[in-house]
Parts: sequence; C-alpha cells; structure tokens
Amino acid sequence: MSAQFLEGRTALVTGSTSGIGLAIAKALGSAGANVAVHGLATPEETQAAVDTVKDAGAADVEFFEGDLRKPDAIDSLIDAVKGWGAIDILVNNAGVQRTVSLKDADAAIWDLIIAVNLSAAFHTMRRTMPAMGERGFGRVINISSVHGLVASPEKSPYVASKFGVIGLSKVAALEYADAGDASSGGVTVNCICPGWVETPLVEPQIQDHAREVGGDRDAGIEAMVAKKQPSKRLTTPDEIGDVALWLCNRAAHNITGTSIPVDGAWTAQ
Ligand code: NAD
Repeated sequence: MSAQFLEGRTALVTGSTSGIGLAIAKALGSAGANVAVHGLATPEETQAAVDTVKDAGAADVEFFEGDLRKPDAIDSLIDAVKGWGAIDILVNNAGVQRTVSLKDADAAIWDLIIAVNLSAAFHTMRRTMPAMGERGFGRVINISSVHGLVASPEKSPYVASKFGVIGLSKVAALEYADAGDASSGGVTVNCICPGWVETPLVEPQIQDHAREVGGDRDAGIEAMVAKKQPSKRLTTPDEIGDVALWLCNRAAHNITGTSIPVDGAWTAQ
C-alpha cells in the first residue's frame, strides 16, 4: 500500500467538521484522496476543518452542506458531491447522542437520533453504491459503536440506531459482495465500533462523571472509562482514522460485512 494509494479517489465523510469524522477525513487526505467535508458547523469551524484536511495532504478538499435530519437535504448533498467527483469512499460518520431513560425519552429524541445515525446512512448508501458496483471499487465505512454490539441503560434510541447500522451494513455487504474483483478492490461495507473516543460527543458524559466523583475533567474521564473499557484508555480520533484508511486499501477487498470493535475489550466481556 503506497503512501498515496488513494490518489484519484473521491471520499465523502459525513460529520467531518469535528471529532472522529475530521480525523478520518485527514487520514484519507493523507493518502491523496479528494475529500468532501460535511457537517453542521459555523463557517469558521468549516474553514478550519477544510484547512486541516488540506494540510494533511488531500489532493482537493471542498465543504458540502446538508442537514441529515432531512432526506431532501441528503439527496441534494449527494447530488452536489457527485457533481464534484464520483464517490468511491463513503464514510457515514455523523451522529448524535442523548443520554435519557426510555421513560423520559420522547418522540423528538427518537426521531432525531434515528434520522441522523441510521436513516441518513440508508439514504447515502442507496444513492452511491450502484455506481461503486459498476466501477468495481467502493468502500463504505459506517461508524457504529460498541453500542451496536451491546447495550447500556439510558441510550435506547442511540443503541437502536447503532444496532440498525450494523444490520444495514450486513445487507449491503451481501448485495455488493461480488462486485468488481480482487484487482479492482471490490465493493466492501464495514462498520467500525468504537468504545470511548475523546470527542465533543462524549464531553457531557465526562462532565457527568466528574460531578459524580467530585473531581476535575481527568477524574471524570478516569471514572467513565473504568466503568466499561478494560484497557482504561480512551481511543484518539486519529486512531479510528487509521483503521478507516486501512479498510480502503485494495488488499482489504475480502473484508466485508464486518463490525470492528476499537474498544479496549469492552465487548469482550
Ligand atoms: P462529534 O460531535 O465530534 O461529531 C459529530 C459530527 O456529526 C459533526 O461534524 C456534526 O456537525 C455532525 N452532525 C451532527 N448532526 C448532524 C446533522 N443533523 N446533519 C449533518 N451533520 C450532523 O462526534 P464524534 O464523537 O466524532 O462522533 C462521530 C461518530 O462516532 C458518531 O456516529 C458517534 O455515534 C460515533 N461514536 C463516537 C464515540 C465516542 O466515544 N466519541 C464512540 C462510539 C461511536
């Protein structure tokens, strides 16, 4: 796998203005891809993300907008990115999370989480995968979670969405399993299932744990990680970026329909 092995490829990474998505966009950019950056962010955050991905070595970088709660906006997003370049790599990363009991969760929370974390992946995949199949190369990487493999209390919409993404990915992997061949790289669909990764998404939970133990932010991280993740270490966004990049390699043509935990043995328990 040469350093610039994604030269000439175009990638769309949803939710890449922040956290894990930005790290994946950087990793794909570092291998020479054209990267479509996307997310809900201020113009300053958007520009900073585009600059970061450019600095990582991307051949070309452009920001595309689209609120993933709205199927029409997803259609427009895909049309706009396709106008810029044929989408070879699709990373469904954008996600939202709320900690709330089933008793207290309302329809609005359910609809939001299912729309962004699950339905958006269905819409982007159905719009991009046929062309990947025709070209004999494609990579779909869906960022699920340990919560796509095991449950935790107070996360019913989130866990349902993440289990759903794994099911959706397995069906797509089956439908495209024989597209292309080993030399073209095939069309693969996999999920990455992170445990705790230090990003803005988990900040409220870090603060909750800090309050619970009566300590500072570091004490909050320690308490939060100790509960679930036996390694007692957080994962960095860049480490998830490296896993995603590796899946884009041609030699990964037969790795499809899988869910890869990056969770310090959380789901081994
Ligand atoms: P983050 O909050 O840093 O980033 C989320 C991204 O999604 C942002 O770019 C945001 O703009 C985008 N987004 C949110 N709602 C959107 C909408 N309606 N339309 C368009 N874009 C929208 O979060 P993160 O921690 O980097 O999470 C990325 C993914 O990783 C999510 O799917 C999350 O569930 C998953 N994940 C995170 C962790 C963790 O510990 N951080 C663990 C497991 C899974």
